Parts: sequence; C-alpha cells; structure tokens
Amino acid sequence: MNVQRVAVLGATGSIGTSSLDVIARHPDRFQATVLSANAQVDALVALCARFRPRHAVVADPARFGELAEGLRAAGLATVPHAGPDALGALAASDEVDTVIAAIVGAAGVASTLAAARAGKRLLLANKESVVLAGALLIEAVARGSGSLIPVDSEHSAIFQCLPHAADDPRGGVRRLLLTASGGPFRGRSRAELATVTPEQACAHPNWSMGRKISVDSASMMNKGLEVIEAHWLFGMPPERIEVVVHPQSVVHSLVDYVDGSVLAQLGAPDMRTAIACALAWPQRVETGVAPLDLAALARLDFEAPDMDAFPCLRLAFQALGAGGAAAAVLNAANEVAVSAFLQRRLRFLDIPDLIAAVLDDLHDAPHTDLEALLDADARARSRAAALIPTLG
Ligand code: NAD
Ligand code: MG
Repeated sequence: MNVQRVAVLGATGSIGTSSLDVIARHPDRFQATVLSANAQVDALVALCARFRPRHAVVADPARFGELAEGLRAAGLATVPHAGPDALGALAASDEVDTVIAAIVGAAGVASTLAAARAGKRLLLANKESVVLAGALLIEAVARGSGSLIPVDSEHSAIFQCLPHAADDPRGGVRRLLLTASGGPFRGRSRAELATVTPEQACAHPNWSMGRKISVDSASMMNKGLEVIEAHWLFGMPPERIEVVVHPQSVVHSLVDYVDGSVLAQLGAPDMRTAIACALAWPQRVETGVAPLDLAALARLDFEAPDMDAFPCLRLAFQALGAGGAAAAVLNAANEVAVSAFLQRRLRFLDIPDLIAAVLDDLHDAPHTDLEALLDADARARSRAAALIPTLG
C-alpha cells in the first residue's frame, strides 16, 4: 500500500489538528507532507517538529523570515514558503496526493480550486469555498479527474448514505435531510437573542470548533452554508434539501429514498470520524473516537428549525434560489458580520440584518467566472463594512 502524501491546509486550526491526530495514528497509511497556517508561526513550527513535513507555508507573506528562522532554529529540513501563491502551488504539487482544505473562510478558495484542478483527492472542510464558487469547484474536480470527499460531518453522512453505484449515483433519492444541533441558543426567542455575547455564541453544546464556525452555528448560518454546500456537492435542488434540528448531534444527516427508506449516519460528535472516513475511503481506519452507547444516550430528539429567531437559514435558501453571485455575497457579508460581532462592533441580531441589507444592495451581481465572483465577494465586504456603523 502506498503511503498517501497529505497537505493539511489550515493545519493549526480545529479541523487541521483533528486531521493530524488521525494521520499520526496511521503512519503506515498517511504522511503529512505540507502544513499551512495563516500567521501562527510558532504553532506551525511546533507541528513541523512533530510531523516533519517537506514543506510549511505561512499565508501572511510578512512572516516568511520568522518561519524560516523558526524551522532553522528547530533543526528541521522543512522548506519554508509564504503567501497565497505558494499555498496554491503546493496544493497542486506533485509531492501531494491528498489535500485537506481546512482553511476558514473565502481565503481558502484559491488553494481548494488549485487542488481540484490538479486532480488531487480533495477532502473538503472549507465550506465557504464551495458556497462562493460551487459550480467552478465541481467543474474543476471533473476536469482535473480527481475526487472530492466531504469532511463537513453532515455531508460526510450524506456521502456515506448515498448509493455509490457508478451507473446512477443519485438513483431513487427523494430528499437530503441535514441535521442541525440548533447551537447554543436553540429554543430562544428573537427577543432573548438581543444581548448574547461572543463568549456565549462560541460555547457550542456538542462540538469544539473554530470561532467563526461557532458563531455561524449559533446564528444557524452554518446550516445555511451547508444547504448550499449540499446543493453543489450532491447536485440536489434546494427544494429537495431540508433542515431538521437534532440537539444531540448524533445523527449527522440522512438520505430519504422514494421507496420510503431513510438512511442515516450516526456517531459521536467528533470530527475525527468524518476526517478519517474521507482519508481512508472506501476503507475504514481507527480514530480513537469512543463507540456510540445508544442505551446511555437513551433518546434522540428532532424539531423544525425556527426561521424567525434564526433568519440566517432563510437568507441562505434565498441566496441559493437567487443564483448568480448571491451566495458569494451572502458568504462575504456573513464573514464581515461575524468578525464584527466577535470584535463587539455588532450585536448578534445585527448579523442577519447586515447580510440581508448587503444582499438587497448587490442582488444583481453577475456570476460569469471566478473573477466576477471574487469581485462580488470584495464588493459585498466593502458594502458590509460601510453599513456596520449604521447598525451597531
Ligand atoms: P479554525 O479557525 O480553527 O482554523 C482555521 C485554519 O485556517 C487555521 O489553521 C488558520 O491559521 C487558517 N487560516 C485562517 N485564515 C487564513 C487565511 N486568510 N489564509 C490562510 N489560512 C488561514 O477553523 P476550523 O473550525 O478548523 O474550520 C476550518 C474550516 O472547516 C471552516 O471552513 C469550517 O466551516 C469548516 N468546518 C469546521 C468544523 C469544525 O468542527 N471545526 C466542522 C465542519 C466544517
Ligand atoms: Mg457541519
């Protein structure tokens, strides 16, 4: 068996760390050959000391010297790189078989597309890149003749529940059912959400994640982005994608077939399962995740989402329905809103208001190619930034 040479983009983050945990358990199968981080040089050098990759990339070009010096001081042969172009080049490099796209936000789109174009085995956690450029990404995977395996737990669940027959991979599917935990504010009314803080929003009841996705989870924009992600990954129209709130996060998602059969994938809420599934697919490898104890769980609950208290989910469906660059605008406005909320420049309920206002202003942004999408992304960011003082 050949060792899979893996690039972990966003290695210092929550998904990156979990990925490296799985990789470390199977040195006979996986080898981390490229590691990247945004600006956390010390953390990146520490990972290099442990995993001995051939290359390390820091996205911030100003940190190249620091990275080179850190690697040298640690006595490592890892080659230092810096900047987004280096990230894209290494994602496409011959020294890599598999790319784990675990950068947060639209910042991950260029390296994700580069890996797809180069025909890599692309393990996708970076959902913002598929929301921004879904059609282009799917096309790039097809042209590059590589593969795309979801890492997002819901999409991993659906991937596992879909038929894998080569002739008709979507045969007989009626609906995709995405489960949502409901986040830390499940059950609260709109009025009760007026004064919630970033600390409360980041205290997720089931999952431990980066701060941006934690806020998305609290606003339910995370589920909105995942609906758009499911649309592109599985070629499913929006009216056949449903969201159901499931507070225990044990059923990770379901596929409903026309004959009435519904397949679900279950597991503990630990991303190492979805990461390992994607890394080893179609085989299975051990992850250290505890076996599910159904008797101890005792019950699984389900309820409809509350779109009034959590309008982000509705906004995402609207953007998907609108087509063009609307999803790119939604994503960019959300990134600006979440960052302003984390910096206490915006209240929680301003997040959907800001996104709705930006979508309204830029509803006719065209989608022709990547340049047009990135232009819509940039316009949405500056429009959102300009609107923040009028809301806060
Ligand atoms: P995180 O904030 O913990 O880590 C993000 C990583 O990206 C870090 O390594 C950081 O250095 C890097 N990064 C940040 N900005 C960058 C930039 N501008 N250029 C290059 N690198 C940059 O985030 P996370 O929770 O690990 O999430 C990563 C992605 O995976 C997100 O798209 C998220 O939605 C998705 N995801 C996460 C989880 C989870 O459990 N954490 C689950 C499903 C999907
Ligand atoms: Mg998810």
